[in-house]
Amino acid sequence: MLVERVWAANDLRNFQYLVACSQTGEALAIDPLDGQQCLDAARKQGFSITQILNTHEHLDHTAGNAEVVAATGARVLAHAAAARVIGGVDRGLARGDVIKVGRTVELETLDTPGHTRAHVCLLAHGDAPALFCGDTLFNAGAGNCHNGGDPNLLYQTFVDQLAKLPESTRVYPGHEYMARNLAFTIDREPGNSDAAHALAVARAHEPAAARVTTLGEEKRVNAFLRLSNPQIIAKLRERFPDIGETPDARTVFVKLRELRNRW
Ligand SMILES: [Zn+2]
Ligand SMILES: [Zn+2]
Repeated sequence: MLVERVWAANDLRNFQYLVACSQTGEALAIDPLDGQQCLDAARKQGFSITQILNTHEHLDHTAGNAEVVAATGARVLAHAAAARVIGGVDRGLARGDVIKVGRTVELETLDTPGHTRAHVCLLAHGDAPALFCGDTLFNAGAGNCHNGGDPNLLYQTFVDQLAKLPESTRVYPGHEYMARNLAFTIDREPGNSDAAHALAVARAHEPAAARVTTLGEEKRVNAFLRLSNPQIIAKLRERFPDIGETPDARTVFVKLRELRNRW
């Protein structure tokens, strides 16, 4: 499986992806925002885009569909419940559906509500597992729930699905928010030296060259995956005294998300 990350260089800091078969060059374009950028990147790599996947219905993940379809005839795939909003969807996806790309790539559909109610992540199994997670899991953070989402659903997606994946799973999110999110982690958990180190590394990189993390690393630096951490809970209680001394993980997650909205 070949992965080409395409940095959109926009204010929202979107990442688009091309996932290609190393034998045939057939490619899946994930979350094309700038269709021309994706087409240019595919040409440069010698890929031919045959499918498009939108992780969810927000325009910054779908705006490039029409241009890529016009140029390539690619089929459009998305969560079945997001298809009507997106328009032009050829294949509505449900949990467990497998997306094949060329001869060598198989991606499993995960039904991952929270950022919106109709959001999918794609999981590549095998020796080098990879997760294309749209706006659910970010580097050192979690997606917001402002536009059609629900933090309780996002919590459930994190604990029931994402946190259970192999530690070696590479994380390919829909936006580049690494440094900002790491600063949030350090504000919650000043003693987290892994986060401090990762922040220094992130600040030394252009966003287009941001590091690809693994789920194991995320569990060390992502507050939304550290819900039983005593320091995080103690700091959270300063802001939300009503959560009590031993809040459950769901409460910690939802309050972290609420705090991050204003942070
Ligand atoms: Zn979104
Ligand atoms: Zn987005």
